[in-house]
Amino acid sequence: MAQTSDIYGNTRLAPGDMERLAARVVTSGDRSSIGVETPITESEIGSVPACTAADVATAVDRARGAQPEWAATPVESRVAVLERFGDLVFDHRDDLLDTVQLETGKVRQDALEELLDIPSTCSYYGSNGPTELADSERSGLIPLATTATVSYDPVGVVGVISPWNYPLTLSFTDAIPALLAGNAVVCKPDERTPFVALALAELLEEAGLPEGVFQVVTGEGAVAGPALIDAVDYVVFTGGTETGRTVAERAGRNLIDCSLELGGKNPMVVLDDADVGTAARGAVTGAFTNAGQLCLAPERIYVDEDRYDDFLDAFVGATRELSLGHSFSYGPDVGSLISADHLESVRESVDSAVEAGASLFSGGRARPDVGPCFYEPTILTDVAPDSRIICEETFGPVVSVVPVSDADEAVERANDTAYGLNGSVWTGDLDRGRDIARRIDCGTVCLNDPYAVGWAAVDAPMGGIGDSGLGRRHGPEGINRFVESKTIATSRIGPFDSPPWLPHGVAARLLSGFGAVQRRLTRWLR
Ligand code: NDP
Repeated sequence: MAQTSDIYGNTRLAPGDMERLAARVVTSGDRSSIGVETPITESEIGSVPACTAADVATAVDRARGAQPEWAATPVESRVAVLERFGDLVFDHRDDLLDTVQLETGKVRQDALEELLDIPSTCSYYGSNGPTELADSERSGLIPLATTATVSYDPVGVVGVISPWNYPLTLSFTDAIPALLAGNAVVCKPDERTPFVALALAELLEEAGLPEGVFQVVTGEGAVAGPALIDAVDYVVFTGGTETGRTVAERAGRNLIDCSLELGGKNPMVVLDDADVGTAARGAVTGAFTNAGQLCLAPERIYVDEDRYDDFLDAFVGATRELSLGHSFSYGPDVGSLISADHLESVRESVDSAVEAGASLFSGGRARPDVGPCFYEPTILTDVAPDSRIICEETFGPVVSVVPVSDADEAVERANDTAYGLNGSVWTGDLDRGRDIARRIDCGTVCLNDPYAVGWAAVDAPMGGIGDSGLGRRHGPEGINRFVESKTIATSRIGPFDSPPWLPHGVAARLLSGFGAVQRRLTRWLR
């Protein structure tokens, strides 16, 4: 690994900023450190402690100590803290964008996309969270004589294990509703991208979050991850499907709940009545945003055979115009991949597809002349339905285009996968598009947009089915997972039993008669 680079010269940051952030991580002794490289030059930008399992347990204990007072804070005050946090994230955007870009190598507009998600999530849950958390009155068995009230208590301490591809959004988009619900949160970011989570922890404190309620632990996933799952009351995980399975297994053994957003092999369906230019533009945005390292990105495009040639021409033409590069200002279209290892995995997927007979219409090459981890936006055709490039997540700037005879074949191919995260349908007829969308087995299907319209609808749940995960983030579902419901049922007529003087046979007949009347009444009222 090269030594700390002069790459800081192009940013508003200095190596001292990373030292200050790393010092936020509390350990109970001297720990070895993990060097963090920027993929832009593969030089070190700082280091963080390799927390042990004991350090993680201590962080959770601290969070557990701070949580009751936070939970007892009126919900309006919790909202005020989180809305202030959203404002601070926006106000500090220049430094935060530099930090995200340094850690990930992504282009500035991709970093901005994730940053803007935070104020919008704070604002959504600030407006809607209190209603979700308020007590609700439910029907008792006998109107007026009995009642049931449901209240919602925070689960306690929530663990968030986040990945490297959207380190800002994916460390906080779940933490915000968890905190609003009165929980404490301990976040373990990916070891490649720890600094932006630490920078946002600083802003949470500035916004007025009491000490200890939000903490970051750093270190290797295989050490810190299991330790976190063993100590918390709920775990949110975003990452690869195989790691997700181990997280779910461990959570299951501990009898805690979890939500998992995992991989995808997202289909894009272009119908015969689609506007080809719009669909091609959407394919470029969808497949190559964040250099394709986006769990929602389309990796398979099924195009009606009548539009296939026109679509491919337009898509290839627009893709060839994309610029690769790095700048801490707005400029290049496509940034770096996260690491040389990941570049190798993307290159290997494309090379083996080509060896198996796929045709390359664009890209297909690493670009060491631009930077050590850059790969060209790549379009493949002539791919077999059971090939690796069609079945396995590539997680890079690589997409396959496949002609289909009609909408039915498109749906069949789209659903021929173990994943089910996000899909899109492209059509001039939105009613028809919605009908097709209902037949696609994904947690979210977007019409005439590859993913952003679904993600940005913060009021609507988002998550996957099958190998793409469990549970949902966003919307009421996104906050309700962080509370335990408690029912307080009241009888105004004493205990639910028959008077001692009434023979059991008579009581049974009365109870059965009452049950029949009640069922009829319920149906009649429906
Ligand atoms: P991982 O699933 O390994 O990493 C995601 C997070 O889990 C990281 O914070 C990681 O920590 C942590 N982790 C690793 N091992 C464990 C464990 N045993 N228990 C708990 N947490 C753990 O993803 P990778 O980075 O290895 O990427 C592999 C593939 O996953 C990608 O190529 C892509 O296909 C997919 N992926 C999907 C994402 C999505 O948004 N759905 C995001 C990222 C990847 P650490 O890295 O510090 O060890």
